[in-house]
Formats: sequence, structure tokens, C-alpha cells
Amino acid sequence: MLILPPVKSSSFEDKVCNMDNMTTLCYAGVNALMLDELKKKYPACEAVEKKTGYFLQFSAENAEILPEANVSDDRDAYQIIITEDSLRIDAKSESGLFYGIQTFLQMPVCIPCGEIKDHAAIPLRMIHWDLKGYEPKFDLLLEEMRILAAYKVNAILLEIEDKYDYKSAPGVGCPGAYTYEQMRKLSKYAKELHIQIVPKLQCLAHADYILKHKKYSALRENGHAYQFCVSNPQAQQLWESMAAELMDCFAEHKGYFHIGADEATNLGECPECAKLGKTGSFLKKVGACVEFVRNNGWQPIIWDDILRNLHGVMTDEEARQCWSIGKKAILMYWAYGYGGNGNEFPLLKSFLDENIRIFGASGYAGCDNWAGSVPPLEIRGKNIDAWTKTAIENKLECVCSTGWTRIGSADCPAEPQESSWFTILYAANSMWSGKPYDYRKFICELFLKLFGEMPEQNLIEAILNIKKSPYPIGNVKTVADSNLRLKFLRLAAAAECLDIERDFICNLNKYYFGKLGDKLEDYRIDYMNKWPRIKAEAIAEFKKKMTEAINGYYIKFTADDFINSRFGYLEKLYADTAALTAETEKM
Ligand SMILES: [Zn+2]
Repeated sequence: MLILPPVKSSSFEDKVCNMDNMTTLCYAGVNALMLDELKKKYPACEAVEKKTGYFLQFSAENAEILPEANVSDDRDAYQIIITEDSLRIDAKSESGLFYGIQTFLQMPVCIPCGEIKDHAAIPLRMIHWDLKGYEPKFDLLLEEMRILAAYKVNAILLEIEDKYDYKSAPGVGCPGAYTYEQMRKLSKYAKELHIQIVPKLQCLAHADYILKHKKYSALRENGHAYQFCVSNPQAQQLWESMAAELMDCFAEHKGYFHIGADEATNLGECPECAKLGKTGSFLKKVGACVEFVRNNGWQPIIWDDILRNLHGVMTDEEARQCWSIGKKAILMYWAYGYGGNGNEFPLLKSFLDENIRIFGASGYAGCDNWAGSVPPLEIRGKNIDAWTKTAIENKLECVCSTGWTRIGSADCPAEPQESSWFTILYAANSMWSGKPYDYRKFICELFLKLFGEMPEQNLIEAILNIKKSPYPIGNVKTVADSNLRLKFLRLAAAAECLDIERDFICNLNKYYFGKLGDKLEDYRIDYMNKWPRIKAEAIAEFKKKMTEAINGYYIKFTADDFINSRFGYLEKLYADTAALTAETEKM
């Protein structure tokens, strides 16, 4: 019986429980959403609500109610007992029961009799949902939350940027940005899925999605659209009103609020900020935002990189002075082990020794290729596993696995979430189970769960490491429309490998440099009139399929960016080469 993430312990007998024989569902502490799913799956069962506890039991006719199991005090613990005529889940909390139900929903109709005991290895299992690069159509966003919950993710770091139509910042939202009503709907739905939303609103740098607009340009630091001026009170006012609006959108999730504060490279530049200096500027702005968040009853989180002087924007001594902010905010220590190496987190001990609260941050996407589509599991997995191990050893409450859909606001979209499920759910698997998992085995097993079929070998290899094992556009097969997600994955993998096509045309230009556009032997002119044209046609056909697929998932504003950045340069190369060939005299 395949369960992902794997359960902590299980024992089974030869007998089986056939769920088709069940007639009653007795329960307490099951929320309306889960009850609805269970009733849909087993419509013949009569549902009977009990008043106390967190349990459910499916029973066949005349079966007795089983005694309550002795569930451990571990985080999100649950226990499942399966007999020939009943299946019972017990927990000590609504969330524990919710995760017991997620496990049960992965089980087949005929379940081996026995017992399962399970709990979470890491209390807060956060996944970064970055809307910068892609805005999923709203129903897809809800569906994605349901998938995350099924794999026992219990928090998302929601990077919103310009994908929400702020009432407090008119003009900032992109065309098709989510509305207030949609954010409220998302908030309530996530709550029912036991997913805590952690809104993220950049307070210092990475603010170009706001400051690029003329209307807000007076708030720039020394003219840089990238960063707020620390000394401008209107900049603080705007940020506070946007933060208050997000707190209202996600009122059900009053808990953590991420204020960014990373990569601030323009500190202390304007005459007013220069008086404060770099450290003074950082502490003033971030300190004010931390206070605002705390005064509203939320707990602020900031990125740690300025404190460790990662970018050398100040002296090490100045950076050390910034550590005082760690007394009032949680530090999210990000380290993505680029290239699969360097998965060590040397500053962790120093931060913890200063009694700074630390959340770890691994990377599931957006780390290896700025214009990628399929993050490499064998690289990302190492980083994710290293953070899980570190979190358990150091008793960190939370790891957030990040997936950057743009490196910065100005950059092209990186890997879409919809073709990153293997690293996203590997992170979920790791954070729940607390253990590494064989990567190839995980790909095959998750394929069965997500798509109900086994993948072709070259797709497995591409998911492991697409740079090592490319998936050229010729690989894209016709896939039944019933499996749009798998179709999208294959197309996206091929889109990442368009560099093969770029190399082909660049090589031809290299071989005949100086001759193209001048004079070339006739048999090579014929060659240039044939192969680049055939290739360009194949690319055009592929682009059509990719465009249709990406527009099926994401709003046009973000889908267009993907298509332009993946195909635009290539089309120009082919067109320029064709024009040169046409001008070339035959010899
Ligand atoms: Zn300034």
C-alpha cells in the first residue's frame, strides 16, 4: 500500500477490509470540507456525528464501535486501525485527524487489516507559493492548495507582489490580479485545509513592482525603483496600509507575516538616508515594519541575508549591528546549496546562540535556471534533505521550502509550480517524514499518485536533472486531454530544452560566419534553406501547444511572459538567419 509521505510505523495482517461493505460513518471533529469529501467517496454510508473527540469510524453492518486508540502527543499525530469490518482514525487534534484522513484517502478500496501510527517530523511545513512569475487561474490556485494539503503541508508563504489588486495601492495590481473577494475565499479554504497562510510583503528592497509606476516614484531610494526610501514617511504609510489590507484578507491566519527585508543593495544613498548610514537605514525601516506587524498581533518574519552580509552591502561589523532586529523578528535563514553542494548552514549556531528564532529555508525551484521549467530533483532533494536533518537536530519549528518563480521582479518567469510538483512534494514528503527518500522511487511513486501511470524513462531522468538529461521537443507526445497536468509537465520539460534548438541555429551561423549574407557554395545554401526552415516549423508547432497549455493554467499576463522569454529570442535567431541566407549569393 503506497502512502506519501510514508507513515512512521505500520503493521498489517493477511486479512483485508473492503470499504465497499461499509454502511456507517461515525465521526467527531471532522470539518465540513473533509466530511463532504468522505460522503462523496462513500455515498452509501450513513453519517452519524458524535459530540466529543477527534475520530472517525467506518463500520460494516452490525460492527461495533472500536475503543479510542491511545494516540501519542507528537505534532499532528494520528492512528488508524483497520479490521475486517471497520476502519477507525483517532487523533488528539483536529489537524491530526485531518492528516489521518489524508492518509486514508490514498488507500485502495480493499485495505489490509492492521495499524498505522504517524506524526509530523517538523511542526510547521511551509511551502513558498510565489505569484511573481505566474498567477494561477483562481480555481487552479485552490486545487493546488488541496494537493499541498493532501501531502500534509500545513503552511504556505504567499508571495503576492502585483498579483493582488490592492485597494490601498491603486494601479499596483497587474491586469487580471486577484480581487479582495478571491483572497478572502482562498483564506477560508486554506483554513479548512489546515494550511496557514503567511502573507509576504516586501518592506525595503524588491519593491520595483510598486515603485516602477510613476505614481509611486517619489518613494524611491535615490531614484532606484528597486528600493523604498527609508526616510520617506509616505513610503512607510503606503507599506503599512498594504500590510493592513493583507492582514484583513487573511484574517483567519493571524500568525506569521513575512516582511522580506532581503537583498537591500541601495541602503543609505539619498542625503536623508545617508545621515542614518546603512545599518541605521536598515534598522529604522525594518524596525518600523516589525513594530507595525507586532502591534497588529502578528509575528514578523524577515530574511536573514543582510544580517550575514551575504551581498557585502556593508561592513561585517555593520551587518553584525543589524542582528538586534533578530530579537523582535523571526529570521528565515535561506540557503539553497546551489549545484547540490554547500548544503551546510554555518551561521545557524551563531544565530541560535544569540537566542534568535530561526526558520530554515530550502529551495525547491528557481535556484538552478532563471528560465527553467523543471527543477532538478537530485539537486533540490539534497538541499531539502539537508534542511530537514538540520531542523530536526536543532529543533527548528519550521522549514519553508522556497520556489522562486522570478529571481527578481524584472526577470523572466522561472519554473512554474505546475511543472515543479516533484520537488514541491518531495519537500512535503521530507518535512513530514523527517527522512530522505530515493529520488527515482519517489518520481515513480508520485507519478502513480498524481497521474495514475508510470512515466517514460527519459521523463524520469529529466525530472531528476534536466540539464544532464534533456527532454527535446521531439519527445512531446500526444497525451490524452484528460491528463492536462502530465501534458503540461512534458511540454514544460521540452520548453526548458529549447537551448538545443538555439545551439543548432547558432552553430550554423558560426560555421558560415562571413559567408552568410555574402557568397556560399550552392549545396550549403540549399542546406540552409532546408534545415533551419524545418526546425523553425517544428518550434512553431511546439510553441502553439505550449501557449495553449500555459494559458490553460495561468492568466494571460504571466503566460505571455513565459512564451516571450522561451520563444522570442529563438524566433529572432531563425528569422535573422533566414534573412541572411536569402541575401547570400550562390557559388
Ligand atoms: Zn532615502
